Amino acid sequence: MSIFEIIFWFAIIVEMTIRAPINKKRKQEKMSEQNVSTQEKVILFLLLIGMFILPLIYSASSWLDFASYSLPAWAGWLGVALLLGALFVFWRAHADLGLNWSPSLEIREKHELITKGIYGIIRHPMYASQWLWVIAQPLLLQNWVAGFANLLIFIPFYMLRVQAEEQMMINKFGDQYRDYMKRTGGVLPKMG
Ligand code: SAH
Repeated sequence: MSIFEIIFWFAIIVEMTIRAPINKKRKQEKMSEQNVSTQEKVILFLLLIGMFILPLIYSASSWLDFASYSLPAWAGWLGVALLLGALFVFWRAHADLGLNWSPSLEIREKHELITKGIYGIIRHPMYASQWLWVIAQPLLLQNWVAGFANLLIFIPFYMLRVQAEEQMMINKFGDQYRDYMKRTGGVLPKMG
């Protein structure tokens, strides 16, 4: 296993450690609205394949070796830098969103609109973190299948999700969310 693969798996463990306590607590809470369509379930399952299952097959077997390539060392370290950025943003987003987080589009009974911390700069820090991650992955896992699957799956997920999520937030919070949208960027900070 290369150093970059080891760093990739280490980062997976860091993300699981950040998310686990929130996930455990939120399962004890009531939801007032849940919009988990079959399409959404399918995409979440595909994301799991791109982020975890294919990398696991790549690292643990030789089945994907036919699709491997090799990049210069600087490209791998660029991947590490992007991954560290992804972890930092992921951590801050979980710290600020807390129990308002959910894997699919949901509104909790006690849902609170968060506009502070990293959410005061961008509306979708977790998706921003995911962008950094899917760009880093082909630099770290140097394989056409294990490296790029996550990116290919994330693009349609992102496009469908952000639109549906913002519509849900507008339905729930109305002008409060519309004002928040004016002040902030989506995944990139708003300039000026
Ligand atoms: N798009 C955000 C959150 C992803 S988790 C991000 O990228 O960081 C998805 C859930 O977060 C949604 O179901 C919604 O209920 C909740 N959510 C999204 N933005 C929120 C906000 N500003 N305040 C509170 N909850 C929010």
